[in-house]
Amino acid sequence: MPIKVTCSCGATAMVKDEYAGRTGECRTCKVQLSSGNRQSLML
Ligand SMILES: [Zn+2]
Repeated sequence: MPIKVTCSCGATAMVKDEYAGRTGECRTCKVQLSSGNRQSLML
């Protein structure tokens, strides 16, 4: 199921489960993000 991720800039995204455990960058502010658990995102 999709993972909901919220960036510190306030942007939110639904990330596919296949991207869990990865890191990515916010497409709004380009900051490097992770969810804090093993779930991460690829925006
Ligand atoms: Zn952001």
